[in-house]
Order: sequence, then structure tokens, then C-alpha cells
Amino acid sequence: QAKSKFPQRTFKVILAGDAAVGKTTFIERVCNGVFVSNLSSTIGVDFRVKTIELDDKCIALQLWDTAGQERFRSLTKSYFRRADGVILMYDVTNERTFVSIRQWIQNVEESAGKKIPIILCGNKIDLREELYKGATCVNKEDGKKLARQCGAFFIETSPKTGYNVDTALLLLGREMSSME
Ligand code: GDP
Ligand code: MG
Repeated sequence: QAKSKFPQRTFKVILAGDAAVGKTTFIERVCNGVFVSNLSSTIGVDFRVKTIELDDKCIALQLWDTAGQERFRSLTKSYFRRADGVILMYDVTNERTFVSIRQWIQNVEESAGKKIPIILCGNKIDLREELYKGATCVNKEDGKKLARQCGAFFIETSPKTGYNVDTALLLLGREMSSME
């Protein structure tokens, strides 16, 4: 029996995290299948839609981008309103963006109005090779530990290579579906 390709439900997914961690690049990779290396920081429509297939159904994810407001730490409560899930991103080569995560989690919890799944995403993992050469980095164990403490899921991704990008969405899609 052929399964329906028409999405049975649409979920609102918020991308959050400090400026330059790779949120817009992540959305571009997901929706266009390419790595775009020179996006303007303020570029971005409100959201893009990505349809994914879970085991028995098809769902649509509305991926909301911040269009640069995160630079001023001014993501308002309304930005998270009616969100069904969050991808909270830091840059594994930039420890400051990891330190900000607790604040972002608090921001999400205060604004979302209900308990929603959060995927903590250590991004730009393709740079790991360079990290071993001595640059500041956030290691995987620290990421996992923070996720556990915050009740979030954890994954490392790279929109540059495409690594784990679809897996992150599947993980979130599954969690959001199971909260119905
Ligand atoms: P945003 O401010 O969170 O939306 O970040 P952007 O998507 O604008 O990305 C900031 C910078 O990081 C850009 O120069 C991107 O090309 C770069 N970038 C994003 N993702 C990756 C990645 O997976 N690997 C590498 N090496 N660079 C990335
Ligand atoms: Mg952006």
C-alpha cells in the first residue's frame, strides 16, 4: 500500500542560538540541499517548509529563522509562541556560543508556553579536524552533558558536509509527533 505523501500535520520549528552559529546555513542546506557560504546575516524569510517522512506518515516542518535579531538578543516571546520544537544551535569552534545555551533554554522555556522538545545541536562539526590543532572547542561529551541536564536531545551537525542534518530533523520530527 502506497503511503500518502501529503503531510498530515505541520509543526512549527524554531531555530535559535547566537549569531553566526550557522542557523541560516542549516536551513539552506535542509531546504535546498546545498552549502551556501556567504549568506548575509540578516537574510532570511520568516520560515521555510521541509517535508519529512517518518515511519508511517509524512509531516511538514516550518523552519523559522531569526533574520539577525539574535544579534541584539531581542528574540521576543512571540517568536517562540506556538512553537512545537526548537533546534538550539551552538558553534563547536566557539565556546561563547556554547556558554549562551543555558540562557537560550531559559528563553525558550519562558516563552513557549508548553513543554516542547529541544534538540541541542553542536554545529560546524566538519571543523573538528582543525579543532584538534589547538583551537578552542566544545567537545562532544560536554555537549551531551549539557543536553542531559536541560532535558534536551543532542546531535552534532555540519550543513557544510550535510552530516546529520536530516537526522536532526528526523529526531525532532519523531519527538514532536510523539507528543501529540
Ligand atoms: P547564523 O547567524 O546562525 O544564521 O549563521 P550563518 O548561517 O549565517 O553562518 C555563519 C557562518 O558560519 C557563515 O560564514 C557560514 O558559511 C558558516 N557555517 C555555517 N555552517 C557551517 C558548517 O557546517 N561548517 C563550516 N565550516 N562553516 C559553517
Ligand atoms: Mg542567520
